[in-house]
Amino acid sequence: MLLRSKDIIIADAHCDTILEINKGKKIGIRSDKGHVDIPRMIEGNINIQFFAVFVEPQFKPHCALERTLHLIDDFFKEIEENKAKIEIVINFCNIDRILKNNRIAALLCIEGGEAIQEDLSLLRIFYRLGVRCLTLTWNQRNAIGDGINEKPVGGLSNFGIEVIKEMNNLGMLIDVSHLNQGGFWDVIRYSEYPVIASHSNVYEICNHPRNINQKQIKALAEKDGVICITFVPFLLRKCFDTAEAEDVVTHIKYIKKLVGVDYIGIGSDFDGTESMPKGLEHVGKMPFLIELLSKNGFKDSEIEKIMGGNIIRLLKRVLKG
Ligand SMILES: [Zn+2]
Repeated sequence: MLLRSKDIIIADAHCDTILEINKGKKIGIRSDKGHVDIPRMIEGNINIQFFAVFVEPQFKPHCALERTLHLIDDFFKEIEENKAKIEIVINFCNIDRILKNNRIAALLCIEGGEAIQEDLSLLRIFYRLGVRCLTLTWNQRNAIGDGINEKPVGGLSNFGIEVIKEMNNLGMLIDVSHLNQGGFWDVIRYSEYPVIASHSNVYEICNHPRNINQKQIKALAEKDGVICITFVPFLLRKCFDTAEAEDVVTHIKYIKKLVGVDYIGIGSDFDGTESMPKGLEHVGKMPFLIELLSKNGFKDSEIEKIMGGNIIRLLKRVLKG
């Protein structure tokens, strides 16, 4: 019998839906616009959803903190309105209870370290607000390190290294998506805990600087981290604005061959980009990926790991409690 999406835990390590909420989206109502809302998350049997606070470039650097706080407030209001169906994860043991209560476990993330300026106190305050994952940079330079649009060689700043240590202390997930090569290797060197690439694909298949290469994937795996395959078409296929669900499987197969299935996750980037691959147009379509993996010869136990099991292992290692 085909593996049913209801029987496994599905985790999606990246979406930009908070920006849509800021524009007025109500996540409790099913919509044909955008990619994520609670009714469609239920259709797609999503159990754990990471929600990123993405600060648009026009707010950086000086208004990044204020903008991040506003977006978090927008998110809190939506969570409060839908608290029967979704709850924010504060520590690891929360997840089990949230899922047993038939709710979606939401992990609050910040995409871009500009939010903490050059101040570890702000990192700690964001932790108290419930932020459990920080994508260190977006595409540009910030006080922590350099994004992919900067030279590949610049590593983390001294402040960036302090951020890594403090995130390790607090129990926050370090996200290397968008980080340049030099920064990536510094994270590998300085983090005591496994790290995540929340929405990046394989560079050798699609050579975009947002993707990570064989050597990086091996290093992530050696650290027991997870690379989460993203559905962004131009990160799936070289020079294409369109892609198909099969392209996601192509990246997964490559990583499986390279390091095994224990280090693969899903990080859709729903609501982060206009078009999505054919077959995975919105979060409600997630079960189609399970079907495709099955058709491509993946065992049920492997699919379980890829769709969420590996993310749970990572959260168990990194989050407190
Ligand atoms: Zn991103």
